[in-house]
Amino acid sequence: HIPPGAMTHIECDQGARLKPPAAGAPHVAGCSVRDALRARVAQPDAEDAFFVADLGEVRRQFAQWTALLPRVQPFFAVKCNPDPLVVGLLARMGAGFDCASKAEIQQALHAGARTGDIIYAHPCKPASHLRFARAAGVGLMTFDNADELAKMSQLFPGAKAVLRILADDSGALCQLGLKFGAAPDATRPLLAAARELGVDVVGVSFHVGSGCQSAAAFADAVRRARAVFDQAADLGFELTVLDVGGGFPGRGDQSGLSFAAVSAVLRAALDEHFPPAACGHVRVIAEPGRYFVASAFSLAVNVVARRRVARPDGPAFMYYVNDGVYGSFNCIMFDHQHPAPRVLTCRGRFADGGDDGDLGPLYASSVWGPTCDSIDCIVPAGALPELLIGDWLVFDAMGAYTICAASRFNGFKISDLVYVDSDA
Ligand code: PLP
Repeated sequence: HIPPGAMTHIECDQGARLKPPAAGAPHVAGCSVRDALRARVAQPDAEDAFFVADLGEVRRQFAQWTALLPRVQPFFAVKCNPDPLVVGLLARMGAGFDCASKAEIQQALHAGARTGDIIYAHPCKPASHLRFARAAGVGLMTFDNADELAKMSQLFPGAKAVLRILADDSGALCQLGLKFGAAPDATRPLLAAARELGVDVVGVSFHVGSGCQSAAAFADAVRRARAVFDQAADLGFELTVLDVGGGFPGRGDQSGLSFAAVSAVLRAALDEHFPPAACGHVRVIAEPGRYFVASAFSLAVNVVARRRVARPDGPAFMYYVNDGVYGSFNCIMFDHQHPAPRVLTCRGRFADGGDDGDLGPLYASSVWGPTCDSIDCIVPAGALPELLIGDWLVFDAMGAYTICAASRFNGFKISDLVYVDSDA
């Protein structure tokens, strides 16, 4: 049993409690994620789960992109994490935006994006959203079927159409090709239909699947896009946009695939099929989501309850924490993730940075979300030191496809957010 307020006695490694971010401050410059985690859980009565978002990490990812893929302008896929500070920062750094709806287009424009730096990258658009795009002057948009072409020619004559083609996404966590993308035998008829309707086709896009685990998939898709550029030329179009989509791994991705490996393969494929000397007029863009935000967000959850289970081989523990599968951990269902915790406090004391041996023996442990549903399980089987009610766990790399799809099921709130800028 922990007496109320026990967590206020946690001491930071400097021996003094760290100052929490000032109320209303958008972010704490120069503060590390580690310090922000410690400061927040050391506040009196700290209990609510919270994210620490590191804007410095987003900036570093952007710098890495520019260094390794200088030919490719990233259009951040807003759906992945529409956090206003992240979107604003990316807009200021010169990123474009991949928007999938009216609200996402509004958000990108509000953040300062130019209309020419937005792609409406949804091949099946509601009529009202299409009308909005026209009124807002956002003309670049994808399609992959004849009905969409007819809709676009009727509701947005003058739109700049990008044909989304099917890529090999068999090695990806999320296979978007089940739903979108023109098959190889459909591209020529679609281009011919566009000619008939007077739709201005300006480019080709693809998506190798979110959570792509194969760098070769990018090279294969660039080769397929080249073939469609050539088909389009036969029909009298001169294409000027190549959109290589999303699927780029975040830093420390569980797949083990690195951005360096993917970008090397992509650079080589672009040089082979779209050599700069002959294709200087082709604007190459991409739609990365996960890449920019996954590693920038850490989520701290509080152990609000626990159950000790007697087993023949020793005790096991079930821990109940205050964010779960109906909240930020929806990524387990929708994004096929396997989040792994690290211990922030153990029996009331900070555990990170110390000697793990101090934490005592490890026990078979499971970690559960706060709702009444048994599907709400975050870690079915793991090994943790013995924790007490009031202790904290941290899940790193929780920035992609988490907060954006979280619900308030059972009356639980969506986790709070604290910003730091480790780079400032
Ligand atoms: N572009 C489109 C059209 C998408 O559907 C998605 C994700 O679903 C993305 C880009 C972003 O993908 P990722 O986060 O894997 O980079």
